Amino acid sequence: MKANQLQLEHPWTRPWWQYSPGNGSTFFYIILIHVLGLVGLILFPLPDWRILVAALILTAIGGVGTTVCYHRCLAHRALRLNSIVENLLIFFTIFNASGEPLTWVANHRQHHAKADTAEDVSSPRQGGFWWAHIRWVYQWSGSEVRRWCPDMDKPKYRIWQRLQIPIIALSIFAGLMLGWQAFFWLGAIRLVYALHFQMFVNSLLHMTPNLPEGVDSSRNIWWLGPFQLGAWGENWHRNHHAEANAARFGRRWWQIDMGWYVISLFQALRLAYEVKLPKKLLQQERLLSEAPPPRRTQTIE
Ligand SMILES: [Zn+2]
Ligand SMILES: [Zn+2]
Repeated sequence: MKANQLQLEHPWTRPWWQYSPGNGSTFFYIILIHVLGLVGLILFPLPDWRILVAALILTAIGGVGTTVCYHRCLAHRALRLNSIVENLLIFFTIFNASGEPLTWVANHRQHHAKADTAEDVSSPRQGGFWWAHIRWVYQWSGSEVRRWCPDMDKPKYRIWQRLQIPIIALSIFAGLMLGWQAFFWLGAIRLVYALHFQMFVNSLLHMTPNLPEGVDSSRNIWWLGPFQLGAWGENWHRNHHAEANAARFGRRWWQIDMGWYVISLFQALRLAYEVKLPKKLLQQERLLSEAPPPRRTQTIE
């Protein structure tokens, strides 16, 4: 195989700084937030608690946007969302710099369909940890929307491709209105944090040691959950790969799944519907609904 063809088919063989065509701005963004984040940590290592809480809240809402809206609703159609809620969550997901919905869904559906192969967008088995963690974001040529999500190729989703850069600029710079400390902590430091804890889903959660070829690499890692804030639940990644179209990622009561709690709340408020349950829960629900009515206790007259 010629070197050029190899780089096209196996983009992880490129040097790490060589972004794929059209991905220059993504590469620039990643460098920018890391440099700004580092400067921020040097200048303001200990933030005011109110700024820290605001940064955590924004990260958590963005995390809910990624897991509930992008992942469970748009990519897997495991539920439907009220359109106002859907649009608000898309805004906060982009504000968290997780990308616009069309590209996210196309990449993600390809990830499931081709998991662990050379066509998987972010396989650590193919490209190693750094490829799976962050390099694919600017070195993968992007999965085709026409092939992977023609159902979403509509103006209401395409509009976010135009809005993405202004929203990210707002996300980086808006804190400046509250001073330099807020600029760094509400902007770059928050974005670096959100980026890495979401990227662990692609890297760590697909790295099972000593795995034979051809065996599904997805895994559950309990300790990652709390760091993912609103996206807590994404850490049950093996559960998710085993049944990708179920809206609930936790399978046992102790597997905390923030996304599922939010979906349950939305359901109660009639903001989420057509929610698909994992098979086991579905069976239990069916058994309960089909169970004969309890016998009446006989009374002696
Ligand atoms: Zn996966
Ligand atoms: Zn998925």
